[in-house]
Amino acid sequence: MAIAVLGGAGYIGSHTVKQLLNAGEDVIVLDNLITGHQQAIDSRARFYQGDIRDYHFLSQVFSQEDVEGIIHFAAFSIVPESMKDPLKYFDNNTGGMITLLEAMHQFGIAKIVFSSTAATYGEPTQIPIKETDPQIPTNPYGESKLAMEKIMHWADVAYGIKFIALRYFNVAGAMPDHTIGEDHHPETHLIPIILQVAAGTRDGLQIFGDDYPTKDGTNVRDYVHVVDLADAHVLALNYLRDGHASDAFNLGSATGFSNLEILEAARRVTGQAIPATIGPRRAGDPSTLIAASDKAKSVLGWQPKFDNIDQILETAWNWHQTHPQGYGDRA
Ligand code: UDP
Repeated sequence: MAIAVLGGAGYIGSHTVKQLLNAGEDVIVLDNLITGHQQAIDSRARFYQGDIRDYHFLSQVFSQEDVEGIIHFAAFSIVPESMKDPLKYFDNNTGGMITLLEAMHQFGIAKIVFSSTAATYGEPTQIPIKETDPQIPTNPYGESKLAMEKIMHWADVAYGIKFIALRYFNVAGAMPDHTIGEDHHPETHLIPIILQVAAGTRDGLQIFGDDYPTKDGTNVRDYVHVVDLADAHVLALNYLRDGHASDAFNLGSATGFSNLEILEAARRVTGQAIPATIGPRRAGDPSTLIAASDKAKSVLGWQPKFDNIDQILETAWNWHQTHPQGYGDRA
């Protein structure tokens, strides 16, 4: 039976597809290629181009393939864009989840591993953030993902569809063999922007705000390597196969780096000056996000291999140097 990876042409999805294939899984990829890249899809996976909001498309694929479980990455994920265009997020993310669950119910597919996010917590009530902490998002992206978690809960109660929500903190890095990596258009994330400036493919970097209540006034985030994150999906799938109940897990490193610390680390790793200025705060940014990930380690047996920021930056830098234009498929 196959595992269907929705959004398998995207950054985290494409890394998970490779880790699933390396673990011996039969993998199909569904992606509308709006933000994904066809070159990112491992050639061992069967690819279906289409949109998860399209019930007809899903039912065609699920009729043709014997799908055991879903890993769902097919969502928009840019916080500032969600502040400007919230309905785009509720439509694709939340609306897409409803269509997907309808199709899963119809075709008797009863397992889903879901990309959730630290943004579902909003401004934390304690650091590090635990899975049981209040979820009060400060932006529509986080709200759309929280709604998806809640919808999955009720689909479990009613139809027995089991889910694992993996709440990611900040994801960075690339496959160490630099065959795949991060390529967003436009790029809005801190680490790829810093590395583009280092590589000379982007002019300047602005740090958004230095008046937060943190060690140096800039936002603090918790970075996880994309391959470690991908491995957690394989573990979550096997956890559901073992018959466990639906659950949620944080995926982070339990270590926070300020935006200025990331900049310093990138200067160290790349050997480049990387000029930067301080700009105004970006709307919707919580001050500090750091995960307690003990639960994923003890329950899922998750063991991150890239446990320092320099290693994460090195693999990302390798990708940026070998792919200065990313996959080269966008203007
Ligand atoms: N950030 C920044 N300049 C940029 C892009 C991001 O200062 O050009 C900051 C952003 O305000 C946040 C941190 O970097 O404090 C991480 O942002 P990113 O968009 O990478 O991830 P997010 O935390 O929003 O998921």
